[in-house]
Amino acid sequence: MKEKIERFLKKKKKEINRIAELYPEEKSLLIDYEELERYDRGLAEELIRNPDEVISVFEDVLSGMNIPTIVENPRLHVRFHNLPKEKGYSLMIREITSDYIGKLMAVEGVVNRVSDILPKVSVARFYCNKCGEAHDEPQPTRFLREPLFCRNCKRRDFRFVPDESEWTDVQRLQIQEPLELLEGGEEAHQIEIWAEDDLTGRATAGDKITETGIMRLLPPRKKGSVYYKFHEANFIEG
Ligand SMILES: [Zn+2]
Repeated sequence: MKEKIERFLKKKKKEINRIAELYPEEKSLLIDYEELERYDRGLAEELIRNPDEVISVFEDVLSGMNIPTIVENPRLHVRFHNLPKEKGYSLMIREITSDYIGKLMAVEGVVNRVSDILPKVSVARFYCNKCGEAHDEPQPTRFLREPLFCRNCKRRDFRFVPDESEWTDVQRLQIQEPLELLEGGEEAHQIEIWAEDDLTGRATAGDKITETGIMRLLPPRKKGSVYYKFHEANFIEG
């Protein structure tokens, strides 16, 4: 898979160089799903089924291309749009069932609520309380995750140091089904979207957006079996 992605991204040199020039105002490479599908159908299907892995390989390959930016180790994103409706990759909010957990899909909706933009830890710096070893732990989810054990002394006793951690912006949006897609008297379904980094601050209430994202579940606070679902945005367009 890695070689296929390397070959695909080599053809995007021009766009990648443009992002490098504009970084950090621009930090995302946008890829048309149908273009990826024409390049390699299997890879495109794998992106739908297994987006966490495929997107992380895309981003690793992109980081490994040594793009000259004004900062060292720029944090670049690879984002996808134009997921085809006829294949069932673009859905109504009500169609997003638990069968789609962890899958990539597009939804369309009207923004009806927008939160403040809040800081979120993206790479957390921990120090081992026993030996002082520093650990940088990527934080892909909403929960702060400690290292499993200290790589130096093998114990597990850490302190989190916010000042030395990397942060990103997050924002929650709620979208609901556009009224023109509803049959008379039907209630509009809603879903919450989590947007990060350069996707925050893009949409305001009343905007009609198409979002590409991954469905996630959030466990209940107390013991219970009903999970809360939300969509983690990969791309938002208005
Ligand atoms: Zn230690």
